[in-house]
Amino acid sequence: ETQLEEEDKENLVERPPVVVVMGHVDHGKTTLLDTIRKTDVAAREKGGITQHIGAYKIKLKNGKEITFLDTPGHEAFTTLRARGSKVADVAVLVVAADDGVRPQTVEAINHAKSAELPIVVAINKIDKPGADPERVKRELSQYELIPEEWGGDTIMVPVSAKTGQNLDELLENILLVSEILDLKANPNKPAVGTIIESKLDKQRGPVATVLVQNGTLKIGDYFVAGMTWGKVRAMFDERGKNVKEAMPGTPVEILGFQEVPQSGDGFVVMKSEKDARTLAEQRKQKYEEQLLAKKAR
Ligand code: GDP
Repeated sequence: ETQLEEEDKENLVERPPVVVVMGHVDHGKTTLLDTIRKTDVAAREKGGITQHIGAYKIKLKNGKEITFLDTPGHEAFTTLRARGSKVADVAVLVVAADDGVRPQTVEAINHAKSAELPIVVAINKIDKPGADPERVKRELSQYELIPEEWGGDTIMVPVSAKTGQNLDELLENILLVSEILDLKANPNKPAVGTIIESKLDKQRGPVATVLVQNGTLKIGDYFVAGMTWGKVRAMFDERGKNVKEAMPGTPVEILGFQEVPQSGDGFVVMKSEKDARTLAEQRKQKYEEQLLAKKAR
């Protein structure tokens, strides 16, 4: 091992897990994400209007943090994955207790398995009269997801995203599964991450949410994101609050891109403006050459 890697090890600290919520349409992914967000202790302390930036980080009563990708459905996940980026550490599979396993449930299981993500099942809508959590467990067993209480190793938590029932237990179990993964990062180096969401804002210009995965992102940093580059001019958290730096596992909305990056683009801080510009230009040139070559064929 090189000296650098050794140094890295000494600097490693725990980072929050990044969680993706998947499941069949109408099974309650959006509701779950909204209700979980409201349990954020820090939000209650600091206030502020919550904004959609594609991901958010919550702090639990015990001080632990979890980052959720706030784009339910498989589309965001598959886009990110197709572009080669691994962002999530844990998948929460939402299955409505009154509907059971449906085609997109199976699709979600397959996505999580191919990404090698541990799955925590949220058996949702248990407040409904027609809810049958045991049926959901039986159905999931056919897909190698065996509940712990049946001797398997999949945690299944009956919840109601609507009433908030058992959400604490769900969050604790997400942390439990994450702890086994031993997620660590080194905050003492330049940031690397992934673009989660991006847009062209009429007033603010190109805006994107980056999930910082290692290192610390700071105001004034020069960066490359896919084929574009920029300088961090301002950063905002999910409450629209200005922040000066972002640690590993933290999503932040950034201003300062030359052009709008694509979700799934890798994000990396560079030493200088020149380095950032040069790398972005090289990538763009390579891409255009490949495009031409394709057309010529
Ligand atoms: P998504 O398509 O998976 O994002 O599902 P939504 O979150 O949009 O939920 C679909 C519908 O189910 C909405 O009408 C929700 O209000 C309702 N819903 C979601 N969770 C619950 C729940 O725990 N209990 C009940 N009774 N309804 C729920």
